[in-house]
Amino acid sequence: MARDENDDVLPDQDAAKEFYAKYEPKEVLGRGISSTVRRCVEKETGREYAAKIIDLSNEDTNTQTVRESTLSEVHILRLVAGHPYIIELHDVFESNTFIFLVFELCRNGELFDYLTNVVTLSEKKTRYIMKQLFEALDYVHSKSIVHRDLKPENILLDDNFNIKLTDFGFAKVLQPEEKLFEVCGTPGYLAPELLKAAMYEDAPGYCQSVDVWACGVIMYTLLVGCPPFWHRKQMVMLRNIMEGKYSFSSPEWDGITGKYTPKDLIRKLLVVDASERVTVKEALRHEFFEVVHCGIKVFDARKSFRFAILCVRCAVRIQRLKNTPEPLSLSSAVVDPYRIKAFRKVVDNCAFRVYGHWVKKGDCQNRAALFENVPKTELKNLYVSNLNRL
Ligand code: ADP
Ligand code: MG
Repeated sequence: MARDENDDVLPDQDAAKEFYAKYEPKEVLGRGISSTVRRCVEKETGREYAAKIIDLSNEDTNTQTVRESTLSEVHILRLVAGHPYIIELHDVFESNTFIFLVFELCRNGELFDYLTNVVTLSEKKTRYIMKQLFEALDYVHSKSIVHRDLKPENILLDDNFNIKLTDFGFAKVLQPEEKLFEVCGTPGYLAPELLKAAMYEDAPGYCQSVDVWACGVIMYTLLVGCPPFWHRKQMVMLRNIMEGKYSFSSPEWDGITGKYTPKDLIRKLLVVDASERVTVKEALRHEFFEVVHCGIKVFDARKSFRFAILCVRCAVRIQRLKNTPEPLSLSSAVVDPYRIKAFRKVVDNCAFRVYGHWVKKGDCQNRAALFENVPKTELKNLYVSNLNRL
């Protein structure tokens, strides 16, 4: 932390100074209710980051609430640090009026914008993204944390289009068996039990399963481009959520195969009764994800190299085949030495040395006669009878 307890005179400027001394802020990458996210460059290393600048002096917001929620976000970011699919917090500067959170930079922006560009994602890409999201969430839930604001805007894409789960502003650490009642999140992604907790006094509250519901909404949206519960009138939408009223309507869903059952997984995620809903671990075991390894070709350098060597050796062998000496068989050498290439050469050489003067220039028939190698019948019989006697 860049804050100094004794620095009450101009603490905000000092925090800003420390940030500006270390980083060069660049263009705006995104905005939230009380934050602006800018690309920035670390002066010493030239490395790029994303700085979330939270303005605590904003008149529309309660400074203390924003500060507390930002510090809680920092606390949770540190608890979930070190996972490949969760955003990494690099640096923090805090003052009376500003907090700077410096994150690793996700150059490919939000999954939301990506989806807007491509309209819908293939089943293969959906599988790739959802698997990473469930893995990130499994890690979050294993730390007894609930995210509470899962949506494509809070899923960023890095250089390799791998996801980075971000925005832990609503996240909360739960005590064992603890239930929550507070309403927070984004309307289209809210789980039925969360809405009921806000509406009914005797509602049992909610916990991590609200994130699983949001995953169902995200997966549905990725596949067909539109969310399952959207309605022009928000009240109708919220009622549909509480009743679990959605459909795999035509024509958007016509092209989605039943092969790896994405619909089946969505049905298990969008279950109104939270106790009947699958957990993240169960979702990861769903057959929709079983094809990940055979569906997406994993490049194995060693395997490819071995295969290339095998191909080259095979080609060389085939090429050399005509030059390769035949294996010498003693029995055929006794019966028919002329069949063996090496002997044939010797025989031909001898024949030419003896009878070469017969070969007339320009008479190929004559020359061919010299290669005549069918033995005379009596001679052949003599060979065979001699062999039998051996
Ligand atoms: P808020 O809590 O205000 O919603 P977020 O943490 O979600 O703030 O950030 C707001 C937006 O800023 C994101 O939706 C995204 O567009 C952009 N953004 C945030 N962090 C990064 C990052 N690390 N790399 C690139 N863009 C980011
Ligand atoms: Mg956000």
